[in-house]
Amino acid sequence: MAEFIRDLLQRWFYNRRTNAHEMSTYLTTFADEHIKDRTKTAHRCEIHPIHFNTFKVDNKWKETTVDLDKRSCSCRQWDLDELLCSYAMAVASIAMEETNLLGRPKKLRIPSVGEKRKLQSCSKCGKKDTIK
Ligand SMILES: [Zn+2]
Repeated sequence: MAEFIRDLLQRWFYNRRTNAHEMSTYLTTFADEHIKDRTKTAHRCEIHPIHFNTFKVDNKWKETTVDLDKRSCSCRQWDLDELLCSYAMAVASIAMEETNLLGRPKKLRIPSVGEKRKLQSCSKCGKKDTIK
């Protein structure tokens, strides 16, 4: 009997560990499937900005208000299960696109007209303009 229980537990833990190793996100399988379903619905939404972080989101069936500052949506699904609803995902995807469009900040400031750029010297060889 003890051997049976030990064997059963060993198989359970092996299967759980194998499944956990194959997961691609930090979310549970339940949450991951919900997010995938909501992402499909989010692509069909129309987004109309109301304020800086407040949006009216509209699809064929429902019209909601998403407030990113308060982390809430008028459909209340985001508040209940703390996973982004499809409306909030639509707004988040737009916000992510805008962030990507802005891109990475430039390393060097563009000099003004008439302003000369200072040449920096290398700390190893002492030559100017050899910094990599
Ligand atoms: Zn919602």
